[in-house]
Amino acid sequence: MCVAHQHHPLHRTEVWTGGYFEKTTLQSLGLTIHLGHDGDLCPFALPKLDLLTVIHTTGIHTVSVKFCECPWSSLPRRTQLLRVRWWPATVDRPKTVTTFAALDMFLKLTLQSKLNMYDFYLSLEHLSDNTCTRNLKYRYKEFTRCVHECRHLLSCKRSARGHDPSGVTATQAGECAVECPACPQPGRNLPEGWANQPEHDRYKYALFLAMDANFKLKSKDRGIKDVPLGDGWGYFVPSVPFKEHVSLYVAQPEMNTCESQLRAVDHANLRSNAKLLVNGVGGVNCSRHALNRRIGFGDLQRGEKFCNMDFCVLSTLHDVEVTTLYLSYDIACQWFVNLPMRMEEYPHRLQVNPNLVIIVAIPKLHLVGHGPKCQTIYSLNYIPGSARTCGESIEQIWSGQNAVAMSTREMSPGCRQDTLDDHLGAWNFRKVVGLGKQLLALLREAVPMKVLHGNMLEQFSASLKPHHVSNWRQMVTAWHADNTCPNLVLSTSPGNPGILRV
Ligand SMILES: [Zn+2]
Ligand SMILES: [Zn+2]
Ligand SMILES: [Zn+2]
Ligand SMILES: [Zn+2]
Repeated sequence: MCVAHQHHPLHRTEVWTGGYFEKTTLQSLGLTIHLGHDGDLCPFALPKLDLLTVIHTTGIHTVSVKFCECPWSSLPRRTQLLRVRWWPATVDRPKTVTTFAALDMFLKLTLQSKLNMYDFYLSLEHLSDNTCTRNLKYRYKEFTRCVHECRHLLSCKRSARGHDPSGVTATQAGECAVECPACPQPGRNLPEGWANQPEHDRYKYALFLAMDANFKLKSKDRGIKDVPLGDGWGYFVPSVPFKEHVSLYVAQPEMNTCESQLRAVDHANLRSNAKLLVNGVGGVNCSRHALNRRIGFGDLQRGEKFCNMDFCVLSTLHDVEVTTLYLSYDIACQWFVNLPMRMEEYPHRLQVNPNLVIIVAIPKLHLVGHGPKCQTIYSLNYIPGSARTCGESIEQIWSGQNAVAMSTREMSPGCRQDTLDDHLGAWNFRKVVGLGKQLLALLREAVPMKVLHGNMLEQFSASLKPHHVSNWRQMVTAWHADNTCPNLVLSTSPGNPGILRV
């Protein structure tokens, strides 16, 4: 029995007592696992057995292990464990491991269903001892450490950081993020001469982004001090320069100048809560495909402060090469007004391509809560080149991430940031996997709809007096060229353009 299980030491076994099957373990039947010699005993192995707690998909096991102690060629114990796909919870003399299979299962479950670590660990305990009568060793803390390290190393591995001659520590900001393959990236997916297109065709090579804040992703102040393992390598901005930046603008009040009384506008001035380290998260994603932007997310210590949101959006825009950006934000009418002035004070890392034209809009669902002036200037329905963008894509991310808020709010700051980064990355990965089918389905709908709506417009125009139609066309063209001209659409009063040249 024990020989047959040398390579299957985590099977669950039962013995026949004469009257019934009783649960037992392979370890109590005498199984010893030999490491470093493909299952054979190391000739230099110590006589004393090491007891290890193994967290596996079949439950929590105690096993007897003999490490390889060959004087010239033995590997560190942690490496011997990793070679049999067991993740050690500590580095020098590991006593607890989590199997790669258990880590893989947990990560797949949590990234999809937002299952928390505590419930997963307890479920494994119940598999081994459903009545809690066997006094299993409680190794929850060790399990959380394995998960945290595993998340970090997997993100480095997926970005091939192990192959960089300068080492993993040379990782640049945002380098471990999954980027959107459909968003324009000169040199990668744009045709030669994209920058020389006539102005009315520039929308084809424009970047569409959406930004917003989420007040569910809080973090409790539990007095634990730690740092993220991959700080600023994925979706969250690097925490040190971010905190330094925010500390400069603590007292900055934000005024609500919109005609509406939309609650989001007042979120900027939320008071801080002593029990919370973080009140929420601000973030940016691409609004045509809903993928999270690298170094586009950051914590909100108080409300939706402009200095926090500026840092997130300007960090992710810093090395953008395209020259047209459609940016939607539910309080764009407030945030945008003094943006150029605020940017003058910001450091180099928050400066953007000087040729970038930012066209600001308010997402369609939020727009109805704004006043008539906002509904004229910031409507994606009237901004040329914005196609049928709704600008609400960031809300999709929040609905996915809100379920993880219950567990991340209890975590230490560093672990929380790494965990949220992993969930944001998993979202992007699933989006990329499905992007081909999604874009094809959208194209199949768009082609006949373009014909249908083109015909409807022609029929409608034909029912009107021709000189009216040509008059209106001239008015619309004139307004787009110069926003001080009368606006045909909603208002006849001149409006400010929602266009910023920086
Ligand atoms: Zn078996
Ligand atoms: Zn050996
Ligand atoms: Zn995209
Ligand atoms: Zn407004």
